Amino acid sequence: KLSDRLQCVLEQIPQGSRLADIGSDHALLPVAAVECGKAVFAIAGEVNQGPYDAACKGVAEAGKGAVISVRRGDGLEVLEPGEVDCISIAGMGGALIAAILDRGQSQGKLQGIKILALQPNVAEDILRRWLLNNGWILVAENILKEDGKLYEILTAMPEDAAPGMTNDHLYSDLALDGGTVMCNREMLIEMGPWLLRAPNAAFFAKWQGEINKLEGILASLSRSELETAEEKRNVITARIKQITEVLQCLP
Ligand code: SAM
Repeated sequence: KLSDRLQCVLEQIPQGSRLADIGSDHALLPVAAVECGKAVFAIAGEVNQGPYDAACKGVAEAGKGAVISVRRGDGLEVLEPGEVDCISIAGMGGALIAAILDRGQSQGKLQGIKILALQPNVAEDILRRWLLNNGWILVAENILKEDGKLYEILTAMPEDAAPGMTNDHLYSDLALDGGTVMCNREMLIEMGPWLLRAPNAAFFAKWQGEINKLEGILASLSRSELETAEEKRNVITARIKQITEVLQCLP
């Protein structure tokens, strides 16, 4: 059985896709995707030998060698143009996922891709910003808690394939609590435009955790005699206030 995290990534994949799972490790996701019919064909990409071997083994044990091609290489380099129409990248930092997409895009590897299903472990904001600046529209966001960890899953489509949706609309200032608090573009990029519009318990847990972390930093700074400490304290206090205000206004 897939973890809830990978199950959520799987759910973003349209039925009948040709899927590339980059950083596939044991190839759990492509195997599950072909087994349930979400993918008719899949590529499992891996840059490192150990996980590449694990992917080969996973595919062989599942008896899916005819429909899953395991390839060793960096990021989207393993893809030929037009081979797939859906890409998943899960379990890496947001900056690494953005760098993989960026290199792939400049090599033309994102041409013909209809869906990106991405699960950054950290730095979701970096990934949202990359999507926003590169003609991709976030069409869904999920956040869930598993084994004490919080995971976000971001799903994106090319701008021209998401009729009626624009990034301008998605990231335009969001009035909360009848306009008492305005969530600006930066906050939307950081917290997630869909998550903010429909927050769940995992979302509140994530941002309460962020507040707790900042309060810890504040406490250690308050013991510091350094001149720069006060400046830092002010920045952190303002940030705690901003996040708290937003959380208090959400349904
Ligand atoms: N995707 C699986 C999951 O979510 O459970 C495995 C995640 S694992 C933590 C990250 C994997 O990404 C590792 O197996 C690593 O070797 C691979 N990886 C890291 N950078 C990569 C790159 N540039 N191209 C392909 N694979 C990469």
